[in-house]
Amino acid sequence: MSFGDKLKIIMLGPPGAGKGTQAALLSEKYGIPHISTGQIFREQIEAKTGLGLKAKKYVVKGELVPDEIVIEMTIKKLESLDPNKGYILDGYPRTINQAKALDNSKFSPDIVIEVYVDEDECVKRLSSRRYCPKCGATYNLIFNPPKNDEICDICGSKIKQREDDKEEAVRARFKEYHIKTKPVLDYYKAQGKLYRIDGKGSISEVSKRINSLIESLLKKD
Ligand code: ADP
Ligand code: ADP
Ligand code: ZN
Repeated sequence: MSFGDKLKIIMLGPPGAGKGTQAALLSEKYGIPHISTGQIFREQIEAKTGLGLKAKKYVVKGELVPDEIVIEMTIKKLESLDPNKGYILDGYPRTINQAKALDNSKFSPDIVIEVYVDEDECVKRLSSRRYCPKCGATYNLIFNPPKNDEICDICGSKIKQREDDKEEAVRARFKEYHIKTKPVLDYYKAQGKLYRIDGKGSISEVSKRINSLIESLLKKD
C-alpha cells in the first residue's frame, strides 16, 4: 500500500460514535488537517451566511443537506488545503453520490475508518454532548467534561447543547444514517479501503485502537 506523504482518511459511523473526537486526536498526533462538514455548517449557520441559511432547515431537523450543496462546499474546502498534508474528513461522505464525487475529484481517500458503536450507546453519548459555539470543540457532560463547569477549555466560551442533539432530530439522524450512509460502507468495502474499529470503551482506548491501525498501515507503506 502506498500513501505518499500524508494520509487521506475518512471517518464513518453513526451519530455519536465518536468520529469528531477521534478525528481531532488523530489530527493532532499526525499533523493532518481535520475537516468536519457538520462543523462548517454550524459556523455558517451561526454567521448567517447564504450557505448557512440554505443548510439550516435541514441541519436543525437532523436531515441531510442536499448533495449538490455539500459536495461543492467540501471539494472547495479540500482544494484550499496544503496538498501535501492529506486530510481527515469527518461527516463526509454521507451518501453514495458524495462518495462518487470525491472519487471523481483528486481527493479520493486512502483509507476509510468505520467507528462502530451500538445505537443505545450513541444515544447516551449524544444526550450529554455539548459543543463550543465559538471554536467548535466537543465535550460530554459525563464522559469528557471541560475542566470548569460548562466553560470551553480552549477559548473560555460557554458550551451549549446542539439543536440537533434533541430527541426528535436524533431520531431523524439515525434514520438518515441507516438509509443513506450505510451503503457508503459497502461502497468502500468493495474498494478494499474499509477498516472497522470498535468504538466502545473510553476515548483513549478507542484512540489507541485507531493509532495502532494507522501505524500498521504506515509500516506496510
Ligand atoms: P460523532 O462525531 O461521531 O457524532 P462525537 O465525537 O461528537 O461523535 O462524540 C459524541 C459524544 O460522545 C461527545 O459528547 C463526545 O465527547 C462523547 N464521546 C466520544 N467518544 C467517546 C467515548 N469513547 N466514550 C464516551 N463518550 C465519548
Ligand atoms: P454528527 O457528528 O452527530 O454525526 P455532524 O456534525 O457531522 O453530526 O453533522 C451535523 C449535521 O450537518 C447533519 O445532521 C446534516 O444535517 C449536516 N451534514 C454534515 N455533513 C453532511 C453531509 N456530508 N451531507 C449532508 N449533510 C451533512
Ligand atoms: Zn471554545
